[in-house]
Amino acid sequence: MNGAPHIVPAQISPEFSARVLYDVPMSKHTSWHAGGTADIVFTPRDALDLASFLRQLPPAVPLLWIGLGSNLLVRDGGVRGAVVSLHGALGTLERLSATRIQAQAGVPCARIARQCVKWGLGPAEFFAGIPGTLGGALAMNAGAWDGETWRQVLEVDVIDRRGTRHVRTPADYEIGYRHVRGPADEWFIAARMEFERKPGSNDAAIRELLERRKQTQPIGEWSCGSVFTNPPGQHAARLIESAGLKGFRIGDASVSGKHANFIINHGAARAADIEALIRHVQRTVADFHQVELTTEVRIVGEPEDPS
Ligand SMILES: Cc1cc2nc3c(=O)[nH]c(=O)nc-3n(C[C@H](O)[C@H](O)[C@H](O)COP(=O)(O)OP(=O)(O)OC[C@H]3O[C@@H](n4cnc5c(N)ncnc54)[C@H](O)[C@@H]3O)c2cc1C
Repeated sequence: MNGAPHIVPAQISPEFSARVLYDVPMSKHTSWHAGGTADIVFTPRDALDLASFLRQLPPAVPLLWIGLGSNLLVRDGGVRGAVVSLHGALGTLERLSATRIQAQAGVPCARIARQCVKWGLGPAEFFAGIPGTLGGALAMNAGAWDGETWRQVLEVDVIDRRGTRHVRTPADYEIGYRHVRGPADEWFIAARMEFERKPGSNDAAIRELLERRKQTQPIGEWSCGSVFTNPPGQHAARLIESAGLKGFRIGDASVSGKHANFIINHGAARAADIEALIRHVQRTVADFHQVELTTEVRIVGEPEDPS
């Protein structure tokens, strides 16, 4: 038996039943299209609904927040407790002043990029190729090319386990390369961000960045983007490639032949195959280069119950 108990319908107040799904395959909520089932997935109607849901949830129920699942490996035994999904929720994006915007955590990063270009604001083009939500980008300090999420952040709105909202500033967080640590048991629901005026900006820069991605990354295949962070002064992809791992396969998962820091699910990979491949890459690169690769991707959930 796996550790945590399953959540049952009686633990959820009936007022949320229209927005709660039970036994949800997480393969439908992750860009790797792998992983077991979550006990429940809740998609809030709005921030007030979210606060009420959190208030009524028994404190012992574990909670996992997800955006578009583009940086998540959910193990085959699934997720015990409640998953809060902001996919298709909390999607307001507005301009507050000449250079300031406010976005809720469910807004896709690509929309922020496009809208900022329309408003003549930058640098926001880097958001275009990040296939996640703003909430996920805040949690990861997602970035690309020369842009990074938290460089633009003035303030964030967060919500805690009791459904209480707080306003936080970057000073409340330890922020680094794909690293954000802040107060425990709080989750992002919105951010106010500052950009510079870039009059005359248009979609051309976005198109060019997306084109460059297509040339160098296996876009369109099932992946989570870069699996490992770049060690200081090094490129994870080069270390993996020079260790001879391009194309290395376990089950239906393989190291991409196009970009060695991507692992592809060719259709039927289990999360256990992907995780075994991650560990194999780490061991091989450690043997070849004496470098420890750290996962950028977040690995969550229970291993499959062998019984
Ligand atoms: C093809 C491809 C290309 C990619 N390219 C890039 C890139 O260039 N740069 C880059 O940085 N990343 C890249 N990624 C990875 C991924 O898109 C980013 O990490 C993204 O920010 C994740 O957002 P998400 O909404 O999908 O988060 P999820 O994958 O759903 O979650 C990621 C983490 O954030 C947490 N989280 C999600 N929402 C919230 C919230 N509201 N509050 C608190 N925590 C939350 C989750 O619990 C989890 O720990 C790429 C992925 C793919 C598939």
